Amino acid sequence: MRNAAAGHGRRGSGGFRMRAEGNARVTYRSAILSAVLLACAREAAQAKITFSFDYSLDAGGIFDGSTSSGKAAQAAMDRAGQVFSDRFLDSLTPITSGSGNSFSARIRNPGTGVDNYDPGLTSVAANVIKVYVGSRSLDFPDVGSGGAGGAVVSGSQAFLDNAASRGQSGALANPKTDFGPWGGSIAFDIGTPWYFGLTSGGLTSNKVDFLSVATHELAHLLGFSASQPSWSAKVAGALFTGANATAANGGAAPTITGSHWLGMNSKVGPNGPTQVALMDASVPTGTRRRVTLLDWAAMTDVGWRLAGTGDADANGIINFVDFQTLEQNLGRTGARWSQGDFNEDGMVDTADYALLMKSYSRQQGGGAVPAAWLEGASVPEPGVVGVLGMLVLARRGRRE
Ligand SMILES: [Zn+2]
Repeated sequence: MRNAAAGHGRRGSGGFRMRAEGNARVTYRSAILSAVLLACAREAAQAKITFSFDYSLDAGGIFDGSTSSGKAAQAAMDRAGQVFSDRFLDSLTPITSGSGNSFSARIRNPGTGVDNYDPGLTSVAANVIKVYVGSRSLDFPDVGSGGAGGAVVSGSQAFLDNAASRGQSGALANPKTDFGPWGGSIAFDIGTPWYFGLTSGGLTSNKVDFLSVATHELAHLLGFSASQPSWSAKVAGALFTGANATAANGGAAPTITGSHWLGMNSKVGPNGPTQVALMDASVPTGTRRRVTLLDWAAMTDVGWRLAGTGDADANGIINFVDFQTLEQNLGRTGARWSQGDFNEDGMVDTADYALLMKSYSRQQGGGAVPAAWLEGASVPEPGVVGVLGMLVLARRGRRE
């Protein structure tokens, strides 16, 4: 992440740089080249991807769980993971070494910066993304650095294909249209004045918002990276030509520099505020950034499937459970998608109701519910609100 006052930046005077950690070398070595079938993509409707954060390599101590600061840092890391796990619909197959098949992860050690580090990971459970998180002194003005890991893999062709795709068939296509990572690593700078709060109320102008940087680095790890094939396949010069990102940018391919947007603004959810996109190279001090519609669109372009707007439990359908969730969290601040914050402005309010109703209406009409209403959601019509009110009353009637 570049200092916003480029050229004469001092830490604290402007933005900090977040950059994509170079992928560790990926070495797929086939011992048995058998002609077995490729792993089939299985897309269970209610799969939930979760992140498994491992702080054992945190040499810098930011995530020391015996301190209140370390606990807060870990909680914020969890929250960053939830930004994505709340919305991803993809299923990831397990990777299981044994029976002549061997998987051995490789990462950039987040505590030392050493590449091709072997963290001792030989299997990954279904729908789990393993992330080694740590801290060290990063080169000024970097505050965070993250990327997907590699692996040394041997075994049957099916095992190799599964390790490289985790059931995402597009990750084996040519050109690649999808990404199925096992995980990777993220490092944070130990000299940065971090703010670890989940809500932005205590974020002062001299602090760097950890949640913003953590979310940004996770997006790199999840494929928003020039070194990730399903991303780089859509790069043409200084433009990212992914169809979803282009649509989210009003029909013009957004501008990039390396693994970042270059000066792109986007709405944070329909009806949400406009901000510099999360995947810009820098973030100013005292500023919280959320994933914008443009950022989400790019995640779709690299292969992730997102829950449609209003689908709080990300099960692929908007139903009464989603209404209940929203109602129960109405008025909540510091909220998540899974609590009904569909425009991702941190609050569950009538704007989220409007989005849910708009999506529900589309679904009942037989249409597909988009991951984002790019044109924004209109205020719900009285008739629609009436229907919702009846639904809520019906639920209350049954409960009491
Ligand atoms: Zn970055």
